Amino acid sequence: MESTGLQPCNKSRCKTCAMVYCNGTANCRTSFVVYKLGCRFCNAFYVGKTSCPLNKRVNVYRSRTKEGANESLSQHAIKHGKDFDECFSVRVLQRLREGQATKLHLEEKEQIKKLVAFKPPGLNTCKTCAMVYQGTEYSSPNTEIIYRVNGTANCQTSFVVYKLRCRFCNAFYVGKTSCPLNKRVNVYRSRTKAGANESVSQHAIKHGKDFDECFFVRVLQRLREGQATKLHLEEKEQIKKLVAFKPPGLNTYR
Ligand SMILES: [Zn+2]
Ligand SMILES: [Zn+2]
Ligand SMILES: [Zn+2]
Ligand SMILES: [Zn+2]
Repeated sequence: MESTGLQPCNKSRCKTCAMVYCNGTANCRTSFVVYKLGCRFCNAFYVGKTSCPLNKRVNVYRSRTKEGANESLSQHAIKHGKDFDECFSVRVLQRLREGQATKLHLEEKEQIKKLVAFKPPGLNTCKTCAMVYQGTEYSSPNTEIIYRVNGTANCQTSFVVYKLRCRFCNAFYVGKTSCPLNKRVNVYRSRTKAGANESVSQHAIKHGKDFDECFFVRVLQRLREGQATKLHLEEKEQIKKLVAFKPPGLNTYR
């Protein structure tokens, strides 16, 4: 079989090309690929995609690891006491044609499932957990008072009062759920996709984003399982406290 003959880029000793197992299919300038990052020291791995040239994507990982970002890949390299380049090699699993963004997204999902990358030693984290911001304080652009978070959460946590916060502007929304957070988030996802006529969906649509791209979730209060009445009251209290019914708040009720 004739090789595609793709060589490392001509920059001598390119740091990114040195990390890429290429088999002649990709180099640091290749875009629209699904890739696997493999740890050089243990079995950990991660599946990702990029529509940008690989070196741009790798640069993001490099700087996040340097900053000590709180995400699985950076933390894994840090655990080994290594920087990103020392810790991981990159293998291109699939290369798509330029512009095939939807296919890229689906192929990434497929590879994550196929390689069971969301279970250790896989480092892919759940999409909902990745949206849940873990912090200790919160505030409102309408009051600027700082409050303390009561309790932590992941995608399985129920009986929480949460705040959705737009990644692109100051818009926010206060809500509650007695179901696991991921179930609630799935409802937002599908309503946004369906173009539902409600403030949260319409806000994401205004930015031209889907729900996950537009919002992150912050848990304000975590109650005990079954405290439905208290949950209702606490939600009301938070809406009042953060003045979520006035712009940039997205609540349409008090
Ligand atoms: Zn290169
Ligand atoms: Zn490792
Ligand atoms: Zn999760
Ligand atoms: Zn916004």
